[in-house]
Amino acid sequence: MSALLIGRFQPFHKGHLAVIKKILSEADELIIVVGSSQHRDAEDNPFSADVRAEMIRRVLEAEGISSVQIFKVPDIGDDNRYPGHVMEHVPSFDVVYSGNSLVQRLFGAAGKEVRKISLIKRDEYSGTEIRRRMAAGEEWKHLVPEAVVKYLNEIKGVERVKKFSSL
Ligand code: NAD
Repeated sequence: MSALLIGRFQPFHKGHLAVIKKILSEADELIIVVGSSQHRDAEDNPFSADVRAEMIRRVLEAEGISSVQIFKVPDIGDDNRYPGHVMEHVPSFDVVYSGNSLVQRLFGAAGKEVRKISLIKRDEYSGTEIRRRMAAGEEWKHLVPEAVVKYLNEIKGVERVKKFSSL
């Protein structure tokens, strides 16, 4: 069985990693879509799609996970066309996993099997909260995998978040 997971991953955190491990306990292979790929250099979207894909690639490598392919997909103006738009960018898949109610609804309406993800520690394992902590100079490193900490250090990721923050 082939699964699909869509996210913005701004940044990739431990909630995302737990979800990937859970999916791969049920599926043979996983397609990860880095969504909103056109966005970068903004408060809600500081990291480019290339940077987000590289975060994920490094975490998967560190975890010894190989049955995953990563694709970058831009948003489109019409939600109802979004599932078809994603399908044009990725290989075929059987099931969509998501904790995002809009994604669940759109792919369900497009005839795809949707499995709901339960959020883990949603107050902390949250891109919004992690970016807020980075901008405010608070502790955030325990909320993301070690490979992400290392990579963000290399690319001065916290400075990037601060640069676009309105805090
Ligand atoms: P996200 O990075 O917040 O989350 C990715 C996935 O991980 C989601 O399924 C989410 O539920 C799950 N997750 C997040 N935190 C978790 C936690 N603590 N524990 C367990 N699971 C957790 O990304 P998102 O907002 O769900 O991404 C949806 C993407 O789809 C966006 O890029 C959005 O723009 C895109 N989209 C586009 C359109 C369009 O272009 N018209 C329409 C719908 C969705």
